[in-house]
Amino acid sequence: MGKTIRNAENILPVYGQGTLLIDTHCHLDMSAYEADCEAVLERAIAAGVTRIISVGIDLASSRLAIALAKKYIGVYATVGVHPHNVAELSEADYTQLQALCRQPKVVAYGEIGLDYVKNYAPVVLQKEHFVRQVALAKKMHLPLVVHDREAHAEIMEILEAAAPFPAGGVMHCFSGDIAFARRVLALGFHISIPGVVTFAKAEMLQEAVREIPLSSLVLETDGPFLAPVPQRGRRNEPALLIHIARKVAELKGVSFEEVARQTTINAERLFGLEGH
Ligand SMILES: [Zn+2]
Ligand SMILES: [Zn+2]
Repeated sequence: MGKTIRNAENILPVYGQGTLLIDTHCHLDMSAYEADCEAVLERAIAAGVTRIISVGIDLASSRLAIALAKKYIGVYATVGVHPHNVAELSEADYTQLQALCRQPKVVAYGEIGLDYVKNYAPVVLQKEHFVRQVALAKKMHLPLVVHDREAHAEIMEILEAAAPFPAGGVMHCFSGDIAFARRVLALGFHISIPGVVTFAKAEMLQEAVREIPLSSLVLETDGPFLAPVPQRGRRNEPALLIHIARKVAELKGVSFEEVARQTTINAERLFGLEGH
């Protein structure tokens, strides 16, 4: 199986067993981690973040995520093409994406969706490939990882038309209000909370976190992006997930341990981590 890092079985994380966290969305394959990936993973484990889902954004990064999952015990992979990268997507690519879905430790399909902030790919192509990748995820019985930037209405239109989702899904880096959260929950999806929740001005997200049941929440860094306070502006990494968990605990008026316990159960179930 190649090289492994120390994992939950042979290191006692700072918060102790039972309060381990799962970073459900990180881009471990990105060049930001190239020089010190193992140090990043060691720091994650020392902070109690013992499992990390490395998310694909195109064919190459999906392959790299799978390679990382093969190499490291606590790392899992997703396969998919981000809305930024769909413009050149070919039939041959779809054949390869489907084949990658069957690789070991591939636990979800994504990230896929719509990004109306950057619009790197034309909207018409973003929509076409979102619809098509949603269908592929369903065919492969994988949960969806959905990316939504300033596209709430059209994301929901497409998802609601494609429902039901027996394998579930997650709205990653959630940026909507409580009304939008309720529509997402009605699909049977989970909602993933990023480091943005620690930002002083993120009042709408903080309000949504107060209202969304803890049983529907998972946590993510979205590293190397969106580092939480007190590291805001620097490179994000899985170890910093503890700041997000602390903020969620504060907002919900429960203990850090309770947030860790419940979000870990949620992520294990959603991504079927026990079976991998
Ligand atoms: Zn995203
Ligand atoms: Zn991402």
